[in-house]
This record gives sequence, structure tokens and C-alpha cells, in this order.
Amino acid sequence: MNLKIKFSKLPSSLQNLIKVVCECAQRSNFKVYLVGGIVRDLILEKPNFDLDIVVEGDALKFSEVLSEYLGVGFRRHHSFGTATVFSSPYRIDLATARKEFYFKKGALPKVEPSNLFDDLKRRDFTINSLALSLNKSNFFKLIDYFGGFSDLKKKVIRVLHKDSFLEDPTRILRAIRFKERFNFKFSYSTYKYLKEAVRAEALGWVSFHRLRDELKLLLEEEEPFRMIKALNRITGLYFLGIEPLEKEDYSLLRKVKKAINWYKENFPHKRELDEWIIYLMALFRKVPLKKMKNIIDKFGFRRGDRIRLITSKKVKVLDKLSKNIAPSRVYKILESFSFEVIIFFYSLTDSKLAKNNIQNFLGKFNQMRLAIRGKDLENLGIKPQAIYGKILKRIFNKKLNGKIISKEEELKEARRFL
Ligand code: ATP
Repeated sequence: MNLKIKFSKLPSSLQNLIKVVCECAQRSNFKVYLVGGIVRDLILEKPNFDLDIVVEGDALKFSEVLSEYLGVGFRRHHSFGTATVFSSPYRIDLATARKEFYFKKGALPKVEPSNLFDDLKRRDFTINSLALSLNKSNFFKLIDYFGGFSDLKKKVIRVLHKDSFLEDPTRILRAIRFKERFNFKFSYSTYKYLKEAVRAEALGWVSFHRLRDELKLLLEEEEPFRMIKALNRITGLYFLGIEPLEKEDYSLLRKVKKAINWYKENFPHKRELDEWIIYLMALFRKVPLKKMKNIIDKFGFRRGDRIRLITSKKVKVLDKLSKNIAPSRVYKILESFSFEVIIFFYSLTDSKLAKNNIQNFLGKFNQMRLAIRGKDLENLGIKPQAIYGKILKRIFNKKLNGKIISKEEELKEARRFL
């Protein structure tokens, strides 16, 4: 099948880039193919800016030729035999066609250079095993060894062979992700193999780091609630140390979604949230701190993520926030928390006062700054400098509480410390 019509519907910048890759391959005598997610998304007519290219031959060499041809930067990952060429807004990942051998289930496979067929054969699902030729002789011809095109049309997730989930159990999470993202169904046998792998506790064979990465991808999807629901139903969350979800857990997850939307609507200029981690905080809600710490250490979450997850357990602050307290108190309570934790607290509480305090913190207090600095205190002749921090803090608290407003008033307040 020739997908030239689909090609003509692509943004012209992408069409041009693909044409250049084709031309470059022709001139330098490489055989190259577009593979994986971008082919799938092109057929589904969904935007995708990540071009995965398989090279029959040395991908590192081709990446060098291509980046020179395009006049853009590139990065080589020698240990993986892969390279990335950056042609903004697109990113081109290049890999040498390879064959994989699994010796131990769940462990990473041994690989050796091979041809396109072997490269597509090692892929997770038929819908991800499609390739498009970028060679002049058969430009944009679809290469479909495993029936991926028909599965895309039938909206089916199908593994390429029965041991697929056992060989690489992260595919269990990937299967759920793609199924839910596209609203597809599993083929009968794929679901059977998946369930067999789940029963064999295959998720326990994979390195925690790989599981963490797949879990994060799952929670980063557009509808994390839907992903979590499917995960709970199909695999359970035991691999995360989490009991089967109950009504109240779902209710909290819904509140998280609402709180995130509330944040986006009310504070469009504030930084984007790492939404995935707020959902994870909700999932860990009933897991005791110590147990959660063990789990997140095992999974090797990044330092910043670890801190956010741990501080999300400090829910006691909600008791304080549920009272009528001065803005300076609200500030003191919330200033050290990341926005993700604050939004999590917002979804946890039913207290109007607490919600109001959080709203004021995000909308007002957190933006407030003093007009004066240490230099102004020095000019006033206040000594010693070591106490400037304390003085400024006191003045700032007064400002938060609305007792002083202008720079003049700040200076007047400062003079009291003379
Ligand atoms: P997304 O749209 O989420 O980026 P993608 O299909 O591009 O999805 P990637 O994780 O970027 O997914 O992987 C690129 C391709 O590599 C996939 O399309 C698939 O063919 C292959 N792949 C990735 N992970 C696996 C795996 N665990 N087992 C087999 N093939 C995989």
C-alpha cells in the first residue's frame, strides 16, 4: 500500500523533512525506514513530532551524514548504536536495524545488527510494527509484515507472539496505555497472554527503573484517570505496593482531576504542573509513609519527585489551613511545598477555608515581593547585616497581612528597627 495521500496531508515542514531524509539516504546509499509510533499515528492522522528511523546499515554514520545535510545538531549514543538528530520542532531518532535475543525473561535482550524484518519482529504490538520506506524506489510504501494496518483499522492491540509479555513484561503496561489511549480492544489471544503474564507476576521480573518509566508514561497520558482504572482492573497495583482501588480512591482521583483543571483555569500563567505525580500521590494516599519510601527508593524516582511524594504525606497541614488564619500563616505553611503537593492538598480537602487559603496563596501571596532590599536597610544605617533577613521577613509578613502596602510604608517599618 502506498500512503502518498496521507503524506500529502502532513504539515509541509514534516513533508519537507521527510523528503530531505529520503534524498540524503539515496545520495549516501543507505536504506532507511520510518517505523513505530509515527507510522501508526500517521495512519490514524494524529500529530507526532518524533520520527523513528531504522537504518539498514550503520545508523551512527547515517546520522552524521544527515545532520550535516540538514545543517543541524545531533547526538550519538554509542553504547546503544543509536543517534538523535534535532531538526526543531522535530526529533529524529535513528537506530541500526537489529535483532533481539531474550535469554532471561524480563531482562534486557542481547542485540545484533540485522535487517528491517528482524527489527520489526522484535516490536511490542502489530500496530507499532509498521514501517514506511523512505527510499526513492518505493517512497512511502507501507511495509506491514504482521498485519498492523488491518489491526489499526479494526482497532485491535495484538502482540506478535505468545511469549511477548513474558519476554518483556513492561509491554503489559504499554498494552494498557495504547489500548486506553486509542480506545482499542485487545485481541482475544493477546488478552489471554497478558493475563497469563500477570498471573505469573511477570511485572516482578522487570527492573524497577523500567517499570517506573512505563508507569510515568502511563500517568502522563491525556486521561490518567482512565489509565489507572484500566491498570487497576487488568493488573492491579500490587507492583506498586497499592491495594485494589476502592470507591473512595476513585473519588479522590476525580478530585485530583478537578483540582488540576481548576489550577489551569485560574492560573494560566503559572508553570505547568507535573500532573502525573499528583495522580501518583493520590494512589499512594493510603500507603504508610515508610512503606511508600521503600517503594519509591526501589523504583529510583528522581530526587525532586521523591521529595514531592514524601511531602505529599504532610496532610496534617490541612488542619491548620482549615482555620481562619492570617495570610502570613498561610504563606509560612505552604511556601515550602511544590505546586503539585499544594494541588494534591487542594483535592484532598473539603474545607472551604482551606481551599480559600490555598487559592489566596497561589493567586496572591506567592507573587508578593517586598519593594525594599537589604541595601535599603543598609542605607538607613541599620546594623548588623546579619539580621537583615529577619527584618525583611517581618516586614514581608506585615505586607502579606495587608498592614503595609507601599514602598514608603515598608521603609517606615524598617526604620523602627534602627
Ligand atoms: P508514543 O506515541 O507513546 O511515543 P511510541 O510507539 O512512539 O509511542 P516509544 O516508546 O517511543 O513508543 O517506542 C517507539 C517504538 O519502539 C514503538 O512504536 C515500538 O515499536 C518499539 N518499542 C518500544 N518499547 C518496546 C518494547 N518494550 N518492546 C517492543 N517494542 C518496543
